[in-house]
Amino acid sequence: MVVKVTIVAANQAGHFDVVIIGAGLSGIGAGFHLQKNCPDRSYVILEGRETIGGTWDLFRYPGIRSDSDMYTLGYAFKPWTEAKAIADGPSILRYVRETAAENGIEKNIRFQHKVVSAAWSTEDAAWTVQATRGEAAEPVTFTCNFLFLCGGYYRYEGGYTPDFPGTERFQGRIVHPQKWTEDIDYTGKKVVVIGSGATAVTLVPEMAKKAAHVTMLQRSPTYVVSRPAEDAFANWLRRNLPSKLAYGITRWRNVLFSMYFYRLARNKPAMVKKRIIEMVKQQVGTSCDVATHFTPSYNPWDQRLCLVPDADLFDAIRAGSASVVTDHIETFTETGIQLKSGAMLEADLVVTATGLVLQAMNGLSLTVDGKLVEPGKTLSYKGMMYSDVPNLASAFGYTNASWTLKCDLTCEYVCRLLNHMTRKGLRQCTAHNADPSITEEPWLDFSSGYVQRAMAAFPKQGSKAPWKLHQNYALDLMNLRYSGIDDGVMQFSNPVPAEAKRRAG
Ligand SMILES: Cc1cc2nc3c(=O)[nH]c(=O)nc-3n(C[C@H](O)[C@H](O)[C@H](O)COP(=O)(O)OP(=O)(O)OC[C@H]3O[C@@H](n4cnc5c(N)ncnc54)[C@H](O)[C@@H]3O)c2cc1C
Repeated sequence: MVVKVTIVAANQAGHFDVVIIGAGLSGIGAGFHLQKNCPDRSYVILEGRETIGGTWDLFRYPGIRSDSDMYTLGYAFKPWTEAKAIADGPSILRYVRETAAENGIEKNIRFQHKVVSAAWSTEDAAWTVQATRGEAAEPVTFTCNFLFLCGGYYRYEGGYTPDFPGTERFQGRIVHPQKWTEDIDYTGKKVVVIGSGATAVTLVPEMAKKAAHVTMLQRSPTYVVSRPAEDAFANWLRRNLPSKLAYGITRWRNVLFSMYFYRLARNKPAMVKKRIIEMVKQQVGTSCDVATHFTPSYNPWDQRLCLVPDADLFDAIRAGSASVVTDHIETFTETGIQLKSGAMLEADLVVTATGLVLQAMNGLSLTVDGKLVEPGKTLSYKGMMYSDVPNLASAFGYTNASWTLKCDLTCEYVCRLLNHMTRKGLRQCTAHNADPSITEEPWLDFSSGYVQRAMAAFPKQGSKAPWKLHQNYALDLMNLRYSGIDDGVMQFSNPVPAEAKRRAG
């Protein structure tokens, strides 16, 4: 990546070796890895919002927290040193901001730059990246040799809300958690939270502290597992060992435990299901009908498991400040929600924790040499690059473990790839499938509605390596940290940029 191309375009804002999209957990991590492993490479982070943090700044609903432990959701390179393993949103945001500040990453971020498209030109061996800047959406253009998508996996503009009949009649307020604002006062109010996923099980116990009553209204139950918010063993290690060593030990213990538990759930679903349900029964006692409200029809890990810290949801149910209703919405009325069973739920406030809208490729329109890329027709290479799309990677985490575990490995791989290309004097790398025996599978195999709604537009995974998505940290460690870069599937070439050709006459 020695040749600097100069593509003349309106509002040309500069050329960089790497453009990173997004200043969330992944984008800041990518900046760190590039600075450390490719110090001779220039990079810029283009962030659509006005601040760092992504998810952990966007979501402001009561009780916002992680549902995986921070020893694995944290970066491999920066120990998590707070007492709580299941951390609240503001602490995670502080951690991401601290990482950016400590490593001088902030100066490389251009805020309020929303990237809308990118066009790869083999002739120039470069991407032309189009963004809009500021409130006026002024168009700006960047060029780069490598594009790294770290813009998360869902649409920022708004979440998913089904079309419920009668909402126009409802006299109270309806809010989606993605659009929570500080003026929403639920003290002493009757609240209904629609949903049964991670957001609903977070909101219900937190809102129950102040509301008159909170009802979690779900169509069907989810597996809910309680874990201590604080990890006593990890905190003991931190007090007695250097922080990096303590963090490393806890991180590996948690990685291995979650891999073991996931395998057990897939191999012995009936046993794991029985155990999870027994635990819920112990925690809610006779205050709730566990068979109706906490016994899913699917097997553990067919959908994401929900975690509650220190059994807070079950405590609220036992205390009577929260309850669960499993039913379907017939219609909203002036005063609440009429259910299909005929029952009526009175409400002053309804929170629609009904999910996110998943988005492929950070919502970008991509072209390669003038041809539109249809993400749904590409195959994912090692879960991070895409067939026949050159010099582009994306950070996409695990569904069965913490997001950052995979993103750290992806960043390491991208740096190895860039260094390989520099060493060999190569400009272009393109994953290409020439094996006709590879069959396509969906990117994610979760049965959840929000996943199913989006999968057609997402890249596919293949039936065999390196196109197979393993959702397994140990395997990815081998595939991304230690495997050879030149594996015969990744094709390297060295197109002479048009500018150099012109100069040579
Ligand atoms: C409520 C909630 C709780 C979660 N809890 C967990 C958890 O406990 N454990 C776990 O592993 N995962 C969890 N996740 C998933 C979570 O999103 C990831 O863990 C992680 O925060 C993702 O980081 P990211 O940087 O990849 O994406 P994001 O946090 O989504 O950040 C992406 C950034 O990119 C920017 N961006 C996107 N597109 C563009 C564009 N076109 N142009 C410019 N900028 C762009 C966005 O503005 C944003 O700042 C949770 C998600 C949600 C919504």
